[in-house]
Amino acid sequence: MSRKMTRAEVCADCSAPVSDPGWASINRGVLVCDECCSVHRSLGRHISLVKHLRHSQWPTSLIQMVQTLVSNGANSIWEHSLLDPAQIQSGKRKANPHDKVHPTKAEFIKAKYQMLSFVHRMPCREDDNIMATDLSRQLHSSVRTGNLETSLRLLSLGAQANYFNPDKGNTPLHVAAKAGQTLQAELLVVYGADPGAVDALGQTPVECARQAGHTDLADRLVECQYELTDRLTFYLCGRKPDHKSGQHFVIPQMADSSLDLSEFAKAAKKKLEALSNHLFEELAMDVYDEVDRRETDAVWLTTQNHSKLVTDRTAVPFLPVNPEYSSTRNQGRQKLARFNAREFATLIIDILSDAKRRQQGTAPGDSMDDDDVHDYDIVPSEDEDVTPGNSAVKSRAKSMDSDLSDGPITLQEYMEVKSALASSEAKVQRLLKVNSDLGDELRRLRQEVDKLHRENSTLREQLGSGSSPYPGPHGGGGGGGGGGGGGGGPSASRKEPVYQASGLDSSLDGDYSSYREVGLGVRCVEGEESEGDPSHALPSGQDVIRKTEQITKNIQELLRSAQECKHESFVPCSSKIHIAVSEMAALFPKKPRSETLRASLRLMTGSALRLQSECMKTIPADAGDAVDLQLITQQVIQCAYDIAKAARQLVTFTTNAANA
Ligand code: ZN
Repeated sequence: MSRKMTRAEVCADCSAPVSDPGWASINRGVLVCDECCSVHRSLGRHISLVKHLRHSQWPTSLIQMVQTLVSNGANSIWEHSLLDPAQIQSGKRKANPHDKVHPTKAEFIKAKYQMLSFVHRMPCREDDNIMATDLSRQLHSSVRTGNLETSLRLLSLGAQANYFNPDKGNTPLHVAAKAGQTLQAELLVVYGADPGAVDALGQTPVECARQAGHTDLADRLVECQYELTDRLTFYLCGRKPDHKSGQHFVIPQMADSSLDLSEFAKAAKKKLEALSNHLFEELAMDVYDEVDRRETDAVWLTTQNHSKLVTDRTAVPFLPVNPEYSSTRNQGRQKLARFNAREFATLIIDILSDAKRRQQGTAPGDSMDDDDVHDYDIVPSEDEDVTPGNSAVKSRAKSMDSDLSDGPITLQEYMEVKSALASSEAKVQRLLKVNSDLGDELRRLRQEVDKLHRENSTLREQLGSGSSPYPGPHGGGGGGGGGGGGGGGPSASRKEPVYQASGLDSSLDGDYSSYREVGLGVRCVEGEESEGDPSHALPSGQDVIRKTEQITKNIQELLRSAQECKHESFVPCSSKIHIAVSEMAALFPKKPRSETLRASLRLMTGSALRLQSECMKTIPADAGDAVDLQLITQQVIQCAYDIAKAARQLVTFTTNAANA
C-alpha cells in the first residue's frame, strides 16, 4: 500500500512537522500532529474521524481518498476566512507548533472544526431549506467528476450525502457508483451515504456500480454496508467475513460462555432481541464508537514515546459527548468504557448474533439459543451466510420492530442492566477518568493512607493485628523492592503453575466475567468485613497498596514492551503480573462477604488469566503460523488496564473500610 505522502507534510492545525507517518482526519481530509490529534479525539468522532496512517486498518481506496484531499489542499476549506488579509489584521490566526495544546491549540481546533468559524459562508438570501437543497443538488452533480474537494466543500456547507434528487430519481452515491468515482463514493460514505439506498428503479448503488462494470467499487460498497459488524468482528478475532463469497457474518465465541447461561444472562439477551431496530442500531453504533476509541487508544499508546501510561491531556477515557444525542444516550455511551475486556467482548458477540438474526428476519430466540459451541477463548466460527441483502444495522425495512409482551424496552433500561458496573462505582471511576499516571495516583493514595494511619493509630492496630493472611511487609518497603524483576522471587516459593487457571483461589471462580454482572451495583463499605469472624478480616491498606505497586510496576514493564514492540517479553511480564495478582488476592478473605469486594477480586484475577492467555498467543503453535501482534497487543493492553482498575478498586475499598 502506498501510504507515503507526496511531499513533506505539516500539521494542518499548527504547522508542526507531521511525524512520519502521523494521523489523518478522514472526514476533514487533513493530516495532524500527535498533539492536535489528541484534541481531535477529545472532540469525538462526530467532529473528526482520526486514524493512524501506519497503525490503523485502511481500505486502499479510503487512504487514497484522504491522500487526494490532503494533496489538493482540503485544509483551506476549514481555514477559508483565515486566508483573507482583513482577518489576519483582526488578529485571528492559526495555531503555531510551539503554542500550548491547552488552551491555544485546543481552542483553535474547536473553532475550526466544531464551530466552523473559518469556513466560507454563502450569503444567506433564502431560507436554510432552500439553500441545503441547492447545495445537495450541486453535490449530486459534483460527484460525477473527480473533483473531490468540491464535494467536501459542499458537504462542509450542509449538502446532504443521502439527498434523493427527485428529477434524477437517485442519490449522489448512485451517481458516483455509475460513474466509477471510487474516491467520491468513499467520501460520501464517510459522510453517511447509504450503499443500500434504492433509486427510482429500485436499484442500490452496489447494483449500479456492478452494472456499469465497476466491480471493485461494487465490492467495496458491499464492504461499506457491513462496515459496522465487520469492525466489531475484526476487533475480537482479527478476521473479517469474505463478502465476495457470500459470507456476511463471522461471529466469534467466548471460551466459557456457559457462564452466560444464567437466568439473568438470558433475560439480558431477550432484552437485546426486543429492542426496536432503531434502538438496536443506536446501541450497535455506540459500541462501534467504543471499539474505535479502544483501538485508537491502543495505537496511541504504542506510538507515544513517553514512559507514562497516559497523560491527562491526551487520554480519551470514554466517548466524548455528542450534543446531537440525548443525555441518556450519551451517558450510556460513556458507560461502555467501564466494561472490561471480557464483558465488552460478550456484549459485542451478542450484538453480532442479533444483527445477523435481524438481517435474516428470524424470530427472536431462533438463532440465539444456548446450543452454541463454546471453544477456548475467542475463536471465530465459520458462518456460511449466503443471504444477500442490506446492511444488518441499516436495513430498517425488516419487520422486527418488535413490541413484545412485557412492554417496550428502552435503550436506557437495557444499558442499565448491561452496565451495572457503573452506578455506585462512580467514586472509583472518577479516579480512573482523571488517571494521568497510575504511579502518581498510587503515591497519592498511599499518602492518604499514611495520613489516615497517623490520625487513627487505634484503627491501625485493629487492622494490622495478625488477622491478615500475610501480616509481614511482604513486598519490602518503599517502591516495592526488587524492581521490575522482583516478581520472580516470590514465585519460587509458591506452588501455582504459572499458566494454569487452577492456581487461583477457588472462591474466585464462577460467573465473574459476564458483562451482565450486577454485583458492583451493591455498595458495601460499612466495615462489616472486619467484624466477628477473623477469616473475614480485611488486610491493611498498606499491604494492599504495596501489592498494587508491584502489580502496577509489572504492568508498566509490560506496556513498555508493547511500546517497544518487544513481544517476546509479553509472556514473562504476564507471569510476573499473575504472580503479583495472586499474592494480592491472597491478602483478602477467601469468601469475602461484600459483593463489591468479590467483584473486584474476580475482575483482577480473571483479567490476569485472560492476559496470560493473550500473551501466550504471541508464540505461534506452529512455526508457519501467522500471529497478529497488533490485535494481541490491543487485547493485552485492555487486560492490563482492567487489572490496574481492579487493583485500584481494592485499594479504595480497603481504605474506605478502614475509614468507616
Ligand atoms: Zn498540530
